[in-house]
Amino acid sequence: MTTTCKLGLGLWVVICLVACNNSNQDKTETPDTAIEIIEAEKEPTKPKETELYVPVPPTVNPTGKNGVPSDAIILFDGTNFDEWEMTSDSTAVKWLLNADGSMTVKDKTGNIQTKRNFGSVQLHVEWRSPKEVQGNGQNRGNSGVFLQKRYEVQVLDNNNNDTYVNGQVGSIYKQSIPLAKASVPSGQWNTYDIIYHAPEFDSEGHKTKSATITVLHNNVLIQDHFEIQGTSEYIGWPKNDPHGKAPIMLQDHQDNSRVSYRNIWLRELE
Ligand code: MG
Repeated sequence: MTTTCKLGLGLWVVICLVACNNSNQDKTETPDTAIEIIEAEKEPTKPKETELYVPVPPTVNPTGKNGVPSDAIILFDGTNFDEWEMTSDSTAVKWLLNADGSMTVKDKTGNIQTKRNFGSVQLHVEWRSPKEVQGNGQNRGNSGVFLQKRYEVQVLDNNNNDTYVNGQVGSIYKQSIPLAKASVPSGQWNTYDIIYHAPEFDSEGHKTKSATITVLHNNVLIQDHFEIQGTSEYIGWPKNDPHGKAPIMLQDHQDNSRVSYRNIWLRELE
């Protein structure tokens, strides 16, 4: 017989017998598997038995350029629209570039999206609805952050403005009610920090793994590893057509929402 040792995280230490099997032991009295289980349950006796030294994680400066993590892709820093294009025809962005380092939806020009395609990401977005409110329900400060151009984290001015809860601010639109409404007053800047894992599809186009999403709204957990059911649909049920990497998209809700964005960056998670 052989001797096998598995060391890792303190969970498995499997040592097969032989070394201690040099006597007149009856081989039928204790099955190998039972002995392996007994060995696996042994408590490590030295610190090193539960320590790992590889792989070494990369070093990230959390306050790199403009306070953004050093390995992040900066999608919008307030100076230009270089990373963005109109969704409808890939032309130059028609939204407003403001002197304060933000951009504002220009009504009825259409959605904008990143020129680059992304899969799983950590995404930071800051957004602001207008201080001077107008409209009600879904028509007050409505925009949205779409992961892979399909899955919407709702942006909405919900302050003193109720609507259906699976379409309120911080919802995964029409799929997941947020755990809390954590908006700041209208006209102030909100943050969304999103952890998104892309769905997977097999070679025949069937979904084999759902996308998942976690969202912090102003540092408050509002979506906790929600399993996305499919595309965000205004009418009808979520769809699950196969796709690969795709842009981040920001919504023009086409009702003079005047939502602004700033300081958008992401870290790729693959
Ligand atoms: Mg929306």
